[in-house]
Amino acid sequence: MDLSLVDWYNKALSNCTCGHHHHPLSMEELTIKSGATDELRSYLLRKKWMKVHVVYDRNTRTAAGDQVVDQLTVDNIHIGISEIEEDENQDVIADEAAIMQVLTEVDHETDVLMAVGAGTLHDITRYAAYTLGKPFISIPTAPSVDGFNSMGAPIVLKKKKKTFQTQTPIALFADVDVLKEAPTDMTAAGFGDVLGKYTALADWHFGAITANEPFCDQAAEMTLEALNQAIQSAKDIRAGSAKGMENLFEALLKSGMAMSLFGHSHPASGGEHHLSHYWEMGFLAEGRKQLLHGEKIGVSTGLIADIYHEHVEKKVALDPLLTDAQKERIALIFKDLPTGDDINTLLGQVGGKTTLAELGVEEVLYQESIHNAHTLRKRNTMLRYLNERE
Ligand SMILES: [Zn+2]
Ligand SMILES: [Zn+2]
Repeated sequence: MDLSLVDWYNKALSNCTCGHHHHPLSMEELTIKSGATDELRSYLLRKKWMKVHVVYDRNTRTAAGDQVVDQLTVDNIHIGISEIEEDENQDVIADEAAIMQVLTEVDHETDVLMAVGAGTLHDITRYAAYTLGKPFISIPTAPSVDGFNSMGAPIVLKKKKKTFQTQTPIALFADVDVLKEAPTDMTAAGFGDVLGKYTALADWHFGAITANEPFCDQAAEMTLEALNQAIQSAKDIRAGSAKGMENLFEALLKSGMAMSLFGHSHPASGGEHHLSHYWEMGFLAEGRKQLLHGEKIGVSTGLIADIYHEHVEKKVALDPLLTDAQKERIALIFKDLPTGDDINTLLGQVGGKTTLAELGVEEVLYQESIHNAHTLRKRNTMLRYLNERE
């Protein structure tokens, strides 16, 4: 059992003096290595869980689902399966139809659900398992997003996205041999989601300085460590090597753990996530094929970093409601942000998309998002400040 990440989390937990209430990690097993699913078998046998329900889609069934099912069948474990169907755009969406499919297909004697896939399949399984009052196990197939170990399940309800607080996986087995086979656009998306922490952290600091948003040094430190780990591994990620996949996946988990420690998404989500959510809602409303979360974040991070570089200093300097000490701290934080070019260079290193045109986000939607996206969430980001402060 690889406990190093759990130890890492617990160290942050014990070092924290911020005064906010933090939870110990509720994960019983956390394994990232080649052949990780061997440990899944022994975990299930140890728990005496002989009835499991696997959730996958057409792609993740081939990537890992069939293999997991074959392995478990040897041990006479009874396996139920939900293969989530794609919509007319060939997208698998975490919506009411997908969740109902799982809820109606799970046998009531099932001990545990198992998400085999990337972010969306985890959200579907997470929500369904929580509703059924059962634990779920995470079997990631791509290092594409930082939400594997989070409690939040973003669900599309009547074509609108809403995030529900549900549960974290009870155990996670990430097979590096499977992650290595993930398509480049998915690993680049994972890398993009991590890069978003640059502006997310700046926004979080800003909210704490100006609006008393709760803040935790340890959670910020953990997020920064995740960011550095991913950036240092850019070459290996591009090469799709075991080392690269392991480092990227660890970085994503660390970002997720920082959110778990803090109990909210502040460490990992700021103005760049607002823009991305706005674009996503625009695409949903028009029934367009969805983009990967992380590829939107990669692009939105570069764009919003440039907006911040252009406007923050002047606006903050002239603000009569801020003290000199506040102005000084804010200036330091935002001066340190990489520029849009820096972000795009990093994204380029892993073969990621860098422009709105590559995403297919039109200029009209982008302009709308800059002026309205901050209203999607009650959070005092710099994006909100630039829009709302006179
Ligand atoms: Zn994200
Ligand atoms: Zn703390």
